[in-house]
Amino acid sequence: MRARLALLSLALGLSVSAGAANPEARPEALRALVQARVAAEYPSLEAIYRDLHAHPELSFLEVRTAGIVANELRALGITVTEHVGNTGVVGVLRNGQGPTVMVRADMDALPIREETGLPYASKVEMDDLAGRRQPVMHACAHDAHIAGFIGTARTLVGLQAHWSGTVLFVAQPAEEIGGGALAMLNDGLFERFPAPDYALALHVWGSLPAGVIGFAEGPTYANVDSVDILVRGYGGHGSRPHLTKDPIVLAAEIVTALQTIVSRELEPGTPAVVTVGSIHGGTKHNIIPDDVKLQLTLRSYSDPVADHLIGSIRRICENLARAAGVSEDRLPVVTMAEQRTPSVYNDPTLTRRLTGSFRQWFGENRVVPEKPTTGGEDFARYGRTNRRIPLSIWWVGGQDPAKIEANLRTGAPLPWNHSAQFAPVPEPTLKAAVTSMTAAVLDLLGKPAAQERGADARGRPAGY
Ligand SMILES: [Zn+2]
Ligand SMILES: [Zn+2]
Repeated sequence: MRARLALLSLALGLSVSAGAANPEARPEALRALVQARVAAEYPSLEAIYRDLHAHPELSFLEVRTAGIVANELRALGITVTEHVGNTGVVGVLRNGQGPTVMVRADMDALPIREETGLPYASKVEMDDLAGRRQPVMHACAHDAHIAGFIGTARTLVGLQAHWSGTVLFVAQPAEEIGGGALAMLNDGLFERFPAPDYALALHVWGSLPAGVIGFAEGPTYANVDSVDILVRGYGGHGSRPHLTKDPIVLAAEIVTALQTIVSRELEPGTPAVVTVGSIHGGTKHNIIPDDVKLQLTLRSYSDPVADHLIGSIRRICENLARAAGVSEDRLPVVTMAEQRTPSVYNDPTLTRRLTGSFRQWFGENRVVPEKPTTGGEDFARYGRTNRRIPLSIWWVGGQDPAKIEANLRTGAPLPWNHSAQFAPVPEPTLKAAVTSMTAAVLDLLGKPAAQERGADARGRPAGY
């Protein structure tokens, strides 16, 4: 490692001796040094990426992936702890006085059969946590996150002379089911390891050209609530509806009435989504069933709006059932199918600081503001503990620019995250992932400016 660094430094005419402070390095020289290191590491990182892509693992089953992460971090001299929150891996890299920055990457893949046709496409099937056989694909680019995470660790270890503080490397399981961050926090992530002053993450994004950085300030990812509704009536023969309380008609009224929550109850301009994604009831043409099951997904940004949506759903369900003459003991049952994935609030001060840095590293036109997404991301949880740690997550474009151009010109579908055809372009994507995360850490831990602990932890409004 050090021999390679010394060679690189020689080639660049820079003085870098690991362990010795070098606060005088000019920003351009440091950027050149990082770029040279990223270029030198790239062939190995692409090999890791291809290997991870070909061997995806489902949520909380990321055993092989976690092993690769642990070995790679250990080989760099980073102190590694495995099995934090089931399959999570934590690495601690201490390098003198200064703040602690958490770098988080997620490891899990999705139950999707890959259709990219890539030479390194996944052919994997595995049993999920419920024991169901599933095809598996890295369709959300978490393989690129992990390859980028390893690249960032290598780069930061090689540049220890240029920063001071502690980096907490967190390889998280089970982002796709919204459970991994919570599992790691419940397993003592911030008690057993240095609690961070800042938490950083990135996500490869299918709507941005490969290598371009996108960002949002404030609410960035949405609250995700999954709701089950059991609409109950009294079944009977389809020819004699007057002797029943038909739950199908009631469910239809409920689905329609739910559309008025966002349009009639929220202040115009308040972003929120109420989607009924599943409706099931009945077995046959001429039987009125006893019940109908609905499954909903809700999206919002602030906690009060999320709670409002749920309160309104209960009110509408119960009172439409009463209007239909359903007795109190047969009113609809509204339950939360899983715990809320809270919205991500990108700390504006921290995000502005980092995007200012990114503009210097990538150039003005490769750092673009993006709209918040209605997707969910459990990275939020690291900012929702009582430590109120400021977070920032940014997007790294992964898309082939030719596909974006074709999409704009002909309307051809753009394979996006969670699509069986999603195929990020490895080189610009991985290089931008490593470079942006390294730049962010160097900004927060760079010498000589010593940052105060939690200096950016201010100004988050209530409800986020
Ligand atoms: Zn995803
Ligand atoms: Zn993802």
